[in-house]
Amino acid sequence: MFMNKKRLFFLFLLLLISVTTLFFRKDLNSLYQRVAYFSFCEKPILYRIGNIDSRFELTKQELMDRTSTAAEIWNRSYENTLFEYSPEGDLEINLVFDERQTLLNKINRMNGSVSDERNSLESRIANFKRWQEEIEQEMDALNKEIESWNDKGGAPPEKYDELNRKQKELRVEINELNKTAQELNQTTTNINQRVTNLNETISSFNSILQVKPEEGVFIPYENKIEVYFYTNDDELVHTIAHEMGHALGLGHLNHTDALMNPIVSENTQLSNEDLSLLNTFCSEQNRFELLKNDMRTLVNNYITRINKN
Ligand SMILES: [Zn+2]
Repeated sequence: MFMNKKRLFFLFLLLLISVTTLFFRKDLNSLYQRVAYFSFCEKPILYRIGNIDSRFELTKQELMDRTSTAAEIWNRSYENTLFEYSPEGDLEINLVFDERQTLLNKINRMNGSVSDERNSLESRIANFKRWQEEIEQEMDALNKEIESWNDKGGAPPEKYDELNRKQKELRVEINELNKTAQELNQTTTNINQRVTNLNETISSFNSILQVKPEEGVFIPYENKIEVYFYTNDDELVHTIAHEMGHALGLGHLNHTDALMNPIVSENTQLSNEDLSLLNTFCSEQNRFELLKNDMRTLVNNYITRINKN
């Protein structure tokens, strides 16, 4: 028995829908999550603290404080509270450790010890120079005294013994001075070697950064923020606040002083451009607009993918 044409067409359509769903399951899921969790700036996005890798040496309370500072950057700039902490919040903030933070920790440690050693070396060199001058002065004085006795035809036996003793003492001191000079040279070589190691570590950090530049990301379909590394508290606050901007639905800005500029900084203020981006977004976007934009992106992605294949 043959299927009629109508049934065949229906089956084909079903197959097409299944294949499309399979092909775009990630995009469709992210689209669903975005529409389902979108807040329209009216209700605050509730956030919670997720996982903190213990290698970050940051307590949960400390991450909570930094996140609350980041949330405040947005909250004080808008009429409604945009972000609020809740232990059951949807938006999860995580610190995920990777090799970049390992390298950064190493760089910070090396930097600290190199500069400590450099400071101590500098003060040792200064002491050494003072000591060297003292010995030179003593030597000059002694030589002058010996010369003046020689001019007089030689020193009396008591004086002669005294001058001899002084000369021996000075020789011992000069030996010690030379030993110290050798030690100082060795320390200088060691520090230079450490500076070379430090520079190598910095350059491998930079080359990883070329491939994996994101200090943090917002993952829409999992509704979570992941921070991978940071150099100081301001940078951490900046990264969390920037990713919160994405969680809200904001895109990037090119202005260098904008928090939504994609380049990492220690900026923890919203610029005028950030403010107008936020206000435009909150006033103009609605669920239908959002869906329309996302559909447009989805179609564009589809076209790009087709063209690539
Ligand atoms: Zn970004």
